[in-house]
Amino acid sequence: MTKQNRKIIYLDHAAATALDPRVFAVMRPFLKSAFGNPSSLHRKGAEAKRAIEASRKIIANIIGARTEEIVFTSGGTESCNLAILGLTRKNAEIRNAEKRGSRPHIITTAIEHHAVLEPVRVLQKQGWRVTYLPVDKAGFISSDDLKKAIRQETVLASVMYVNNEIGTIQPIAEIGRIISRINIERLNKGLPAITFHTDACQAAGSLDLNVNRLQVDLMSVSASKICGPKGVGFLYVRRGVNIRPIIYGGGQERGFRSGTENVAGIVGLAKALELATMHRQRENKRLISLRDYLIERIKRSLPKVILNGPEIDYQPISSKSNGRRFLRIGSRLNRLPNNLNLTIPGVEGEALMLYLDAQGICVSTGSACTTGSTDVSHILTAIGRSEKQSKQSIRITLGKTTVKKDLDYMISVLLKTIKLIRNHR
Ligand SMILES: *Cc1c(COP(=O)(O)O)cnc(C)c1O
Repeated sequence: MTKQNRKIIYLDHAAATALDPRVFAVMRPFLKSAFGNPSSLHRKGAEAKRAIEASRKIIANIIGARTEEIVFTSGGTESCNLAILGLTRKNAEIRNAEKRGSRPHIITTAIEHHAVLEPVRVLQKQGWRVTYLPVDKAGFISSDDLKKAIRQETVLASVMYVNNEIGTIQPIAEIGRIISRINIERLNKGLPAITFHTDACQAAGSLDLNVNRLQVDLMSVSASKICGPKGVGFLYVRRGVNIRPIIYGGGQERGFRSGTENVAGIVGLAKALELATMHRQRENKRLISLRDYLIERIKRSLPKVILNGPEIDYQPISSKSNGRRFLRIGSRLNRLPNNLNLTIPGVEGEALMLYLDAQGICVSTGSACTTGSTDVSHILTAIGRSEKQSKQSIRITLGKTTVKKDLDYMISVLLKTIKLIRNHR
């Protein structure tokens, strides 16, 4: 086959997903005829405004929130920044007014996305104290570490729902319960509550997003990871949680996020979330069986391969699980259905990725989110991989269009390529 007509096998769904045609269909009018500014008072404005509010309602229903608790943003990164910087700015104002001298404290994890780590680092430079919770070899934080990290001055805890590189699903509902319980004690002692934020960007396509079951106060979601458009997302802000904006201007989104709304994007985001939620159960089952097949085949041919992240132990999916099932450490349900992250001894991940790309197969060397960076992954380091092992790692993430035949082809190319690379060293 020639380069032009060869099929591309895309296995990097943690980085980006193809826009679902049904999502594009609902976005289309707002890219063309329905172009009005939602703030305009005439009919074209009202039309756009209606579309935004209908989308807000769809999302609020799915996540168990009130419509006024949803703030549309430009994506996951902005949502995380708004959560962290918005909350801490508001808190700093309160502390100044009350002339509290002690330094405020944030808890997060060692394996967060840069969208969380970077704003936290900025705050750290400004004098905030930060605890980065360590993770075990599968990427889980421990609830004991969390409890021990909490201080009188703790203002915010930010724990990602699903890790983007190794697919670890943190027990967010359990963490939410712990923080809620501690907040009740704090209230009795006259201490301010700890606000709980979760970066749910990788979770939104596959997992429960109900903010009450999860007991989160702030939650970040991006459309681009759930077959929606890029450059749009939302932040859930629980009523009573006070944040400041980080973008000022015309006062859109109730003042929390100024700037003319991305109407088509917002409509697409709502549709994408709706579709993901509707098909979640069946699609998760399908992806788990494809993913388990893939790892089994790879392990059979390459027994020295290390699976990074939660083990896949082929436990049957229990039917009466509901919610708590994600707590069973070591269960296949603690790993995102579509994720495999492998360390292949003796094979440079970057070389492998490029060889596979030359043959029409797209995988990742870990995080594509640090533009083109070849730095060692802070996530693989946190789970105990050496620098060498980190550089010998690739991430394979399946998605809506992935079928078994593609995986068979991928495996045959992968094995041939590994042999080639090893022989050339
Ligand atoms: C992709 C991603 C983000 C950033 O979302 P953008 O929409 O690209 O800004 C943040 N956190 C996680 C876990 C992600 O996977």
